[in-house]
Amino acid sequence: MTVPESPAGAGRFDRLRRGLRRTREGILGRIGSLFRGSARSEDWSGELEEALIQADLGPRAAAQIVQAVKGAPGSTQPSWEGVREAARRVLRDILTSGNRTPPKGSVTPPRVVLVVGVNGGGKTTTAGKLARRFQGEGKKVVLCAADTFRAGAGEQLRLWAEQVGAEFVGHRPGADPSAVVFDAASATLSRGADALIVDTAGRLHTQDPLMRELEKIVRVVGRRIDGAPHEVLLVLDATTGQNGVNQARQFLDSARVSGLVLTKLDGTAKGGVAVRIVQELAIPLRYIGIGEGPDDLIDFDPDEFLEGLLPSAA
Ligand code: GDP
Repeated sequence: MTVPESPAGAGRFDRLRRGLRRTREGILGRIGSLFRGSARSEDWSGELEEALIQADLGPRAAAQIVQAVKGAPGSTQPSWEGVREAARRVLRDILTSGNRTPPKGSVTPPRVVLVVGVNGGGKTTTAGKLARRFQGEGKKVVLCAADTFRAGAGEQLRLWAEQVGAEFVGHRPGADPSAVVFDAASATLSRGADALIVDTAGRLHTQDPLMRELEKIVRVVGRRIDGAPHEVLLVLDATTGQNGVNQARQFLDSARVSGLVLTKLDGTAKGGVAVRIVQELAIPLRYIGIGEGPDDLIDFDPDEFLEGLLPSAA
């Protein structure tokens, strides 16, 4: 198995734009076809609402956008530009209103980040990408494979560590995850590393033993490193759309999640789900995944995201 490289040289916004292509084209196609040209359907507002819901923006945002269009000048025969601007206003309000408080910012190193979520969502990949980012900032990182259940998860993380130049701590499959975390915390301290990133097993919120194991990991790392974990990132797969939001909600009830990561925004037309996540979950969306490569994790920036989703000139 190899870790794919990101396309070199592409700027951050270009990469975001490319990642959001399918979502953007879906939105522009659906809504544009209703309002470009001169004829309007009698039920344009119902069709607009439906198109927005299909773009995974969620019923609340869809209703708000329809209201905004109805309240705008020329609302009996709205123009494409009018609809686009009304939608952008509403989306900007939603995207910028989310709780953006950064997690415990001034932590004395080492900083401990736990990556949680269901299997296949992109936890291991996100842990690797985060390690790459921290290493790129000149920090020394330890990657810990606490997913001792899934065959191959440890090996996958070890490859990431090798590629990004991070230290790797893992045990054999089936080992006690808390014991791995304990060892990784000790290694982090003894080597004077700046960050410890822990990849946990893909737990379903309904799987009680797995939730208890996560709690144990939290306790163990907290006893070893002051204030740890400093951040618990819940990884959500954008391709699951609405299901991902429901899943997150249940997850938030049980884990001490401090931030969200939305992965696989590239290659899906369901990227509008980010709007829904920001609007409906009271946890900041911190990062978005726009590819499988090490540099394909970017900070979630509301204005940039909006421009990638529904450009001001389109
Ligand atoms: P885990 O089971 O939660 O640890 O998930 P993995 O990290 O193994 O990821 C599952 C699959 O999703 C892998 O094939 C990853 O390469 C892929 N993946 C993860 N993040 C992204 C992303 O942002 N974009 C794309 N296209 N694929 C991703």
